[in-house]
Amino acid sequence: MSRVLYNAINQVTQKYNAITHKGIDLVKEKNKIAEVMAHSDGEVVSVATGQKHDTNTTGTATYGNYVKLKHHNGMYTLYAHLKNVNVKKGDQVKQGDILGEMGETGKAYGVHLHFEVRNNKDVRINPTPYIDANLPNDIEKIDVIYQSYDSRKKRWLPNVTNDLDYAGNLGNAMSGLAINLTKGNVVYRVHEMNNKWLPDVKDREDYAGNLGKNIDGIQMKSDTCTLLYRVHLKNGSWLSWVQKYDDTNSGYAGILGKEIDAVQIKVKE
Ligand SMILES: [Zn+2]
Repeated sequence: MSRVLYNAINQVTQKYNAITHKGIDLVKEKNKIAEVMAHSDGEVVSVATGQKHDTNTTGTATYGNYVKLKHHNGMYTLYAHLKNVNVKKGDQVKQGDILGEMGETGKAYGVHLHFEVRNNKDVRINPTPYIDANLPNDIEKIDVIYQSYDSRKKRWLPNVTNDLDYAGNLGNAMSGLAINLTKGNVVYRVHEMNNKWLPDVKDREDYAGNLGKNIDGIQMKSDTCTLLYRVHLKNGSWLSWVQKYDDTNSGYAGILGKEIDAVQIKVKE
């Protein structure tokens, strides 16, 4: 059963995308209206009511009626396009409490719940791992969450964290990279094959790369921790771990002129 839709099974109608859709869209089976439940215990920190269905809205109005919760670990969840809202700012809620009813207020095409998970910096992250799972307890631990763009499949691959394997599809060159730290900042850039280093990108507000133009070098650094990173060459092997970002040969991951098909990132403890 769904953790956020009362008495319903989750049906995902639109997946998370780091650039174009920073949440996940859920409907109840047979597109019925379901009550929306708090994913986890927390406090209501923001509410919008009185919004109409309007596909021309911009900014936060695109959410229509929504509820935003702050959880005990510092992370947030957000529930958008609600038909009505049962809670008010400052309320304490328990997991499973009804926040309102699904609807299509704001910029919505049909009745659905737009569900977001945000880290403790209020940056939207991929909610998919948490749809049926608890939020992480240990927010003090720095996790890196990242994903790559598969040039052959022409899509962003699922997010991975430093607890999981790597981002990429071996054999398919990558042309985009998006990185976020659950605590702290990251600055990164990529080298476009047969061209140049592209501009630095910060956190997940954007991504590095020109999608479709393959990458042959990656650099990253953080003010808050030491990042270890390495890349896998297409039709090749993993190169050495790198922990610097500078102009030397050991200051980036990759071999210029050779396509990269995967990247792995770790936070050095
Ligand atoms: Zn959505």
